[in-house]
Amino acid sequence: MPSSPNVVAGRSCGTCTLCCRLPDIDLFDKPANVWCRHCVAGKGCSIYVDRPSVCRDFLCLWMTDAGFAEIWEPSRSHMMVYRQGPQITVLVDPDHPDIWRREPYHAQLRDWAREAEATGGYVIVFRQDDVFKI
Ligand code: SF4
Ligand code: SF4
Repeated sequence: MPSSPNVVAGRSCGTCTLCCRLPDIDLFDKPANVWCRHCVAGKGCSIYVDRPSVCRDFLCLWMTDAGFAEIWEPSRSHMMVYRQGPQITVLVDPDHPDIWRREPYHAQLRDWAREAEATGGYVIVFRQDDVFKI
């Protein structure tokens, strides 16, 4: 990924491709938790130069928020976190469905929910067909 003014110094996507799998992407008729048809295992996006803005403009919070500790690196936490207005959205890798309930992650999610609540925000966890509000 090219350097971006929004990216925390020293962080990069590396081999992580979670955002090409976990979210649904209407543009590609891609359901959640299914690999994008343009993602090549172990390599990344096969249309990288021409990828659409929905991909080009997206960065998860681990990439853009220095307050996110290294344990939240998506390839390590098996979760992808981003903001949608007041909502902090957490998508859980279906290959690691219970990781969000384990520590230190669960305590951190509860802390985020408490902090967000003060300004009307909240945390939502999506795990396959399950949705949890924290
Ligand atoms: S989930 Fe984050 S770190 Fe992983 S590929 Fe997407 S933007 Fe990069
Ligand atoms: S087009 Fe490329 S960057 Fe966008 S979701 Fe598919 S593989 Fe990922």
